[in-house]
Amino acid sequence: MDINQQSLAYGAAKSAIREIAAYAAARKAEIGAEHVFDFSLGNPSVPAPDAVRASIERSLALPSSQVHGYTPGNGLPSVRAAVAASLERRFGDGTATADDLYLTCGAAASIVVCLHALVNPGDEVIVIAPYFPEYRVWIETAGARCVEVMADEHTFHIDADAVAAAVTSRTKAVIVNSPNNPVGVVYPRENLAALSAAIGPDVTIIADEPYREITYGAEVPWVPSIHPRTLVCYSYSKALSLPGERIGWVLVPPTCPDHDQLVPAIAGAGRKLGYVCAPALFQRVLADCVDEPADVAAYERNRVALTSGLARLGYEFVEPQGAFYLWLKALEPDEQAFFERARALELLPVPSSSFGCGGWVRVGYCVEHATIVDSMPAWEKLVASYGRSAS
Ligand code: PLP
Repeated sequence: MDINQQSLAYGAAKSAIREIAAYAAARKAEIGAEHVFDFSLGNPSVPAPDAVRASIERSLALPSSQVHGYTPGNGLPSVRAAVAASLERRFGDGTATADDLYLTCGAAASIVVCLHALVNPGDEVIVIAPYFPEYRVWIETAGARCVEVMADEHTFHIDADAVAAAVTSRTKAVIVNSPNNPVGVVYPRENLAALSAAIGPDVTIIADEPYREITYGAEVPWVPSIHPRTLVCYSYSKALSLPGERIGWVLVPPTCPDHDQLVPAIAGAGRKLGYVCAPALFQRVLADCVDEPADVAAYERNRVALTSGLARLGYEFVEPQGAFYLWLKALEPDEQAFFERARALELLPVPSSSFGCGGWVRVGYCVEHATIVDSMPAWEKLVASYGRSAS
């Protein structure tokens, strides 16, 4: 049968992260969950706040059509107004109105509608490597070319000179993810200003910000205040631990050039892709929980245990400032070989080749605290297998 070969290829290739997570689940069933140290998926270990449950219970008392019915394509006006008011409280007057927001099924859908709103066949979209692997899939299926630009090899901040060298007349957008998955860095204001100067005023920044609230003291600059042509993509998957509920938004800031065309283009992209509307029940949850703080304490505890434990064993890593990933240097240049040695000890990080660069692994620490503590003897054996001992 003459089916779509691009879709077939993406389906057959599978996500390396999900493959490792599936392996971890099978291995846990085989030898017991407490013997397997699964650091693969970015699935929050912190429970959703009580306010979410209370809001769901309140909503369930409403007539069925209000809870389970279709909503307008861009979301319920009252919910968009609540989100806009929250953004204005946090980032200043003029940040957003209800009409500038399009509610989505999470950051993934937000980025996809932005790409489909922006690019024409043959356009180019820059990603800063290492990067979230789905970006390439979304860029290519929107008809554009994915152009990888390596981050600074020491700081893992954006290398603005390298971006400037990659910009062409076909460059439409740059996807910027801060706090960053997989590296855990937060880009400082000066770094984003340098990026803005490198790309010029006509290239759009797609600011992918599902980890905005998960930081350990670093300020996360508001990108539209630095680069006016910015579309902000947000989701409640990480901050409120709701990844399976699929709820987020795109903001076209009022100050964004071509705002009046971009708002309908984003709605049109959603229509084109058959997105219809974000889940009605969770739209209602947002109205109640929009200012609910993320519970960062558990990730902070994990971060401290993991970084202090691994530093003691002599591992090198990038000090995480946000999100819940540790970017750890492999103990040999071939990160796949390093991963295989780790796997033999039941340690399951994700090799950096999945993120577009070599020599590292990503250790997701959105896990139970005991997983980190109990994994330390295995990390010690791993270091020892390279003939090294704790420093
Ligand atoms: N962007 C980044 C950097 C992510 O890490 C993820 C999920 O892990 C997403 C986007 C997709 O998030 P969502 O669950 O909101 O679609």
